[in-house]
Amino acid sequence: MRKLFLITFFVFVSAYAQEITFSGEAKPAGIIIAKGENITSATLNKQKLLIDKDGTFIFGFDSEAKGKFILRVKQKKQKEKVFTYVIEEKEYEKQSLSIPKKFVNPPKRFLKQINREAAKMKNARAKMAGVKTAYYNEGFVLPVDSVRITAEFGGQRILNGKKKKDHNGIDFGGNEGDSVYAITDGIVRIAGEKFYYNGNFVLLDHGQGLSSVYLHMSKLHVKNNQIVKKGELLGEIGSTGRSTGPHLHLGIQWFKKRIDPANVLNINLEQSSD
Ligand SMILES: [Zn+2]
Repeated sequence: MRKLFLITFFVFVSAYAQEITFSGEAKPAGIIIAKGENITSATLNKQKLLIDKDGTFIFGFDSEAKGKFILRVKQKKQKEKVFTYVIEEKEYEKQSLSIPKKFVNPPKRFLKQINREAAKMKNARAKMAGVKTAYYNEGFVLPVDSVRITAEFGGQRILNGKKKKDHNGIDFGGNEGDSVYAITDGIVRIAGEKFYYNGNFVLLDHGQGLSSVYLHMSKLHVKNNQIVKKGELLGEIGSTGRSTGPHLHLGIQWFKKRIDPANVLNINLEQSSD
């Protein structure tokens, strides 16, 4: 009888513990993946977060994030849980590059094309905004077989002596024809060909605002709206679009926030903590 009582008590406790686990780090260009039971809502500062049926959700910080961020999570029959993150500003290194003039200030005759392509990106991103499924749930893999990083995330770019936008991804060096893989499960929102800046590229939707782009490829092996699995072949390394030689530019965003791929590829979803 006593034993039965103990077992009952244990079940009772674990069913109501309702803990939330976190992977990743709160820092500039960082991302955090959280999971908990019976979550009814979660907000980061004032932004409402999307939550999967299984209680997984994600939130990120842009490269210039600093100060206080407050996460509020509501679970059924529980007091609201509040988590506070304080982020220190990060300084990025400068990087000087020489590239063909036409890519710093594109010639007028390409402006229509550039605007059309920007509109396509915007439409694709708008479609992604409401996806509640956490396709990234199985974790992340590297997009290339041999890792040689030729440009890190966030470096202030000085193109032909002029200050330009920060580098918003990671460049992996490689040879033309090397395989490029999906970093995690997702939907192909754009398998784009001959875009002015991106060249041949793929935009993947991983759900809940998380997306990845793979730029400058020589060949594509996927089509629009195709569902891909983590590690699936997307295409081959190339030097199409605004590129100075064969490499893969991998960019990751959480909605409009630019995330450092290094912070995502480091996340081991099994190794979570409170
Ligand atoms: Zn790049």
